[in-house]
Amino acid sequence: MSNQLIKPDLNFVKDVIASGGESLKKCFQCATCSVVCNLSPDDKPFPRKEMIYAQWGLKDKLFSNPDIWLCHQCSDCTAYCPRGAKPGEVLNAVRKLSIQNYSVPRFLGKAVGSPSYLVLLFAIPVVVFLVLLASLGHLSISDIPRTASGGISYAKFLPSLYVDSVFMPIAAFAVAVFAFGIYRYWNDLARANSEARWRMVLKGGLINTIISTIGVILSHRLFKKCDVVKDRQISHLLVFYSFIGLAITTAWAVAYLYGPAIMKLLGLKPFSWLLGESPYPLTDPLKWLANISALALIVGITLVVSNRLKNKEKAGKGSYFDWLFITVVYLVALSGILAEVFRLADIAILAYPVYFIHLVVVFFLFIYAPFSKMAHMVYRATAMVFAKSTGREI
Ligand code: SF4
Ligand code: SF4
Repeated sequence: MSNQLIKPDLNFVKDVIASGGESLKKCFQCATCSVVCNLSPDDKPFPRKEMIYAQWGLKDKLFSNPDIWLCHQCSDCTAYCPRGAKPGEVLNAVRKLSIQNYSVPRFLGKAVGSPSYLVLLFAIPVVVFLVLLASLGHLSISDIPRTASGGISYAKFLPSLYVDSVFMPIAAFAVAVFAFGIYRYWNDLARANSEARWRMVLKGGLINTIISTIGVILSHRLFKKCDVVKDRQISHLLVFYSFIGLAITTAWAVAYLYGPAIMKLLGLKPFSWLLGESPYPLTDPLKWLANISALALIVGITLVVSNRLKNKEKAGKGSYFDWLFITVVYLVALSGILAEVFRLADIAILAYPVYFIHLVVVFFLFIYAPFSKMAHMVYRATAMVFAKSTGREI
């Protein structure tokens, strides 16, 4: 029999506790949690084993374990734990630390996860947009040009070229950080689960697995297995599809803006429906999709908050990391809707500051996405694909 030396990482234990897993040490390994969890497979069930890994500070075992992401934080385990440990919250804390582990630069991950850096993180976009507005001489409302018909236009306040010159590099940065993080995560999964990797090689069909995982994600059907917080499926679906709606809206607006010039460049007559620069009429389908998505986002995120508050005794109140994401999503949706309302009502003194806030929070959401709770969508999807392709039940 070979002896294995286990080196606990006490700093990791402290990090789990500081990230919302303070109930960690209450666990006495009775395994009730693994029995009551409806998402846990029969083969090597979770979260009991993750609780002991976390108590021992075995961070590599946790990070390279897809099960931490197969948990959907239903909190059934938390509700039934006889010791008052909150495995759902502990796994949530571990997932946060996993996101920080795989996202580079590391200091950004630490900053996004800590309230001490909040002001600094918001100060960056504030300064960027103030500098751009100052360079245009648009810091005073009276200096901002109006449309030919005398209305408010945000494209006159901060021209699209300026907005895009900020958001395009940010989007490219976020995609690159996500891609690198997923690459490292997948390698760790494959290294730590070499036996499972063999099953994957034998099973083949990674594309089919990705397609069937996308089906699971689009339906959010795993949330239906939760008992304690059943309502989460609706709220998560609303938030998820609102983000998809807003992403389509953004791509659509880019096509409106640059489509005519590109078609001219190609020697073609621009389509009449490519409207060019905003603002677009409320009757345009792009506006319908944008407004419906923003309203659905507000409803969805309100339901998320209401579910959390309603179930806080059984499921835990959530961590700073969770609430930061919820707040930013709220601010994005609310500032977007209010900016439109104040523009249509021609209240310049409110419209421009609210639009400025909208730009700041959208910047925040995009640039810090790979380090924030938003990254859970990407890491969970990767873990689900890995688990499924290695024959693990999800
Ligand atoms: S977390 Fe609670 S239910 Fe799970 S093994 Fe520990 S004591 Fe038992
Ligand atoms: S939080 Fe829910 S999904 Fe996660 S381990 Fe507990 S019961 Fe299972």
